[in-house]
Amino acid sequence: MDFEKLAQWLFPDVTLTPEDMEKRYPERQLPQGAIVSRMAPSPTGFVHLGNLVQGLTSERLCHQSGGVLFLRIEDTDSKREIPGAVKILIEALDHYGIRFDEGAGIEGDIGDYGPYTQSLRKDIYHVYAKYLTQKGMAYPCFCTEEDLENMRKEQEAAHENFGYYGKYAVWRDRSLEDIRRELDAGHPFVLRFRSTGNPENKHKFTDLVKGEIVLTENEMDQVLLKSDGIPTYHFAHAVDDHLMRTTLVVRGDEWLPSLPFHVQLFQSLGFKLPKYAHIGPLMKMDGESKRKLSKRKDPELALTFYESEGFPVSAVYEYILGILNSNYEDWRRANPDADPSGFAFSYKKLNPAGSLFDYDKLLNVSKNVISRMTADQVFDELLDYTKAYDPDLFASLTADPDYAKAILSIGRGGKKPRKDLATWKEAKPYMSFFYDAMFERSDPYPETISQETVKKVLTAYLTMYQASDDQTVWFDKIKALSESFGFATDMKAYKENPQDYPGSVADISGLIRVALTGRQSSPDMYAVMQILGQDRVRARLQNAVDALG
Ligand code: GLU
Repeated sequence: MDFEKLAQWLFPDVTLTPEDMEKRYPERQLPQGAIVSRMAPSPTGFVHLGNLVQGLTSERLCHQSGGVLFLRIEDTDSKREIPGAVKILIEALDHYGIRFDEGAGIEGDIGDYGPYTQSLRKDIYHVYAKYLTQKGMAYPCFCTEEDLENMRKEQEAAHENFGYYGKYAVWRDRSLEDIRRELDAGHPFVLRFRSTGNPENKHKFTDLVKGEIVLTENEMDQVLLKSDGIPTYHFAHAVDDHLMRTTLVVRGDEWLPSLPFHVQLFQSLGFKLPKYAHIGPLMKMDGESKRKLSKRKDPELALTFYESEGFPVSAVYEYILGILNSNYEDWRRANPDADPSGFAFSYKKLNPAGSLFDYDKLLNVSKNVISRMTADQVFDELLDYTKAYDPDLFASLTADPDYAKAILSIGRGGKKPRKDLATWKEAKPYMSFFYDAMFERSDPYPETISQETVKKVLTAYLTMYQASDDQTVWFDKIKALSESFGFATDMKAYKENPQDYPGSVADISGLIRVALTGRQSSPDMYAVMQILGQDRVRARLQNAVDALG
């Protein structure tokens, strides 16, 4: 068969050759060991935790090695694409500190290996499509949808593998005349790969995450170009990763079954195979068993979820690092204040079966992260969050930043900082009592004390309280108040003979706490009262007394 002629028929306008492409996209000049990797998402508008896992893995491995990370937009499946998706994607990743050195950007491409959007690379793919046709490694297939459907039925009935191979590959060895006739009739065709693989042959392959695996040779004549001339993912990624000089492909393990075909394609095209790291899906516990996180069932799969729940970016980042590399937690304990970029991320630690996502653990990590922040940091992050999600709290925070920062300073600093907040969403219930507009007495007074006594205690305390008292004087007054009502101040004595007292100093503090904060538990009362200040404390005590009738 005259493949040259066939190639000319199919790609009359293609004049460039693979050599021209090699010249246009030369090898990168990078230091030894520098990794070139990429994110190659499809612009569907839905950015999920898996994207972050994949992006973070590529980003860490690449930047740790002094290499290059680029973004390529894989938009060959226009059915799945939504407008604005690229911007959504870039912004979401940027939010989590995944920064690209080159590639598609909101303002256009950056870098010498573009265009970085597949739909703009049709001419480049056609150079290689023509090349494969010239070499007899690709051919046009004019099967209609109906032909393929019938073939599938036949395979089903005969209990044979589905696909275009062997005797089912009906256009594989057709004559030039047959092809010419179809072309002249204007019938659409796809370009198929002419596979020489034999499933009897197995090869060892080393994946950076899965380890050594056995690949079965591919015998399917897969589609390289669809009937509109747009490449399939398989073909496009091989051409792109070669020309963009990718040395490491980190991608989901749903691509593993296609790997034999990819290896075959790289070989046929004369390309050096990059290294591959196929990462498992994120899993979660569902009762006793594990399952994949699902878009339909699990809101926590969407990255937007973390923003609207008010997780600090640094907490999500920290958590993901921890589930990907199990030694991260130890490193964090030893380096509580270090930037996570100081941690040596390793693909060897990635769990081949996929990482387990545990929401409670995330809350815990986030609590720790927030507890290590300064009040100013907390204030700034909380402002960003409330601006978007809680206008009331935003207004209160901005009305008096110093007051808000004083509240957010409670229990901060020191070796054992308080861990009150896991998310910014929790800030409102945590701090609302400091603001008169949001204050409500939601908890009852301690049940063991009568309403009448509560009223008397609060009335007496109103005459004693002075905001200028230091903590010792402040507490001495509460003790004196307790004693004047016969409540125990010696806790040991109280525990030995509780029946001798109506209650203890803890009960007296407790009722003052409910009067002032509306709750039975709150951060340190002295600190709370210092922040509330003389006027607010007096007003709250007076209101509490009045409310008791
Ligand atoms: N566009 C493919 C996807 O979104 C990319 C896979 C890859 O990274 O090569 O799954």
